[in-house]
Amino acid sequence: MFDLAGKIAIVTGGSRGIGRATSLALAEAGAHVLVNYCSNEEAAKQTLALIEAAGGRGEILGFDVADPESVDRAIKEAVERHGGIDILVNNAGISIDQLLLRVSPKDLEMTWATNLNGPIYCAKACIRPMMKKRWGRIINLSSVVGESGNAGQAVYSSSKAALLGLTRSLAREYASRGITVNAVAPGFIETDMTADLPEAGRQGIVDQTPLGRIGRPEEVAAAVLFLASEEASYITGQVVRVNGGMHV
Ligand code: NAD
Repeated sequence: MFDLAGKIAIVTGGSRGIGRATSLALAEAGAHVLVNYCSNEEAAKQTLALIEAAGGRGEILGFDVADPESVDRAIKEAVERHGGIDILVNNAGISIDQLLLRVSPKDLEMTWATNLNGPIYCAKACIRPMMKKRWGRIINLSSVVGESGNAGQAVYSSSKAALLGLTRSLAREYASRGITVNAVAPGFIETDMTADLPEAGRQGIVDQTPLGRIGRPEEVAAAVLFLASEEASYITGQVVRVNGGMHV
């Protein structure tokens, strides 16, 4: 339905979960997808194998989103190889959940370095090539808790709320250059990030979700694909909520 033929996309943290589903969705629509990974090269290769099995094209691209030099080097080389970047999906994220009284400065720094600094470094590295083409799409993976807050997630939810501020500011800053910047805010999605939640907590989330179930990575990827498409050309600075109605 959506045609991304000829587009070059980067998906950070593309080796598993929502990043893998998004890499696949963009590749199935015709984009050449650079599947970023930080440490698990094998998992990124599996994403690439799935893309190729579906008839798509891509490559793996190692860098740590929290390390600005590694981001700059990898994205600069990718831009040289492909003549530009059209779509950036800032998906990589971590969650270290605990009550405020247990939060350590190290956990705080790591979470913000990955969840907020990372998207800023990646956007900064992609924005010039996008400006050159006068076309670009940046999609940031926020979270339902970035809007609603959540006990035990002060650090994570504040980083995801900050990502919404980044989304709105970049949307205003680059609209005149043909670049749209939007966020997708998932609710509770079945991935490694949520795998450790005890059954009672899981049931509690289902009970709070009008659609009565946990979401699938593909359901988030579908929203990212739409925002990356030509069809979403008049949407910028917005938050698309994919949360089963958990927060309306
Ligand atoms: P996940 O833990 O399965 O995957 C996260 C990916 O990010 C992994 O591949 C990991 O290696 C990568 N990553 C982490 N730090 C990195 C770094 N420094 N550099 C490069 N890559 C790095 O998580 P997921 O559930 O697929 O989540 C994807 C995004 O969606 C995250 O930003 C997450 O916060 C957000 N989100 C997830 C849920 C959910 O319920 N699963 C809900 C709301 C928002």
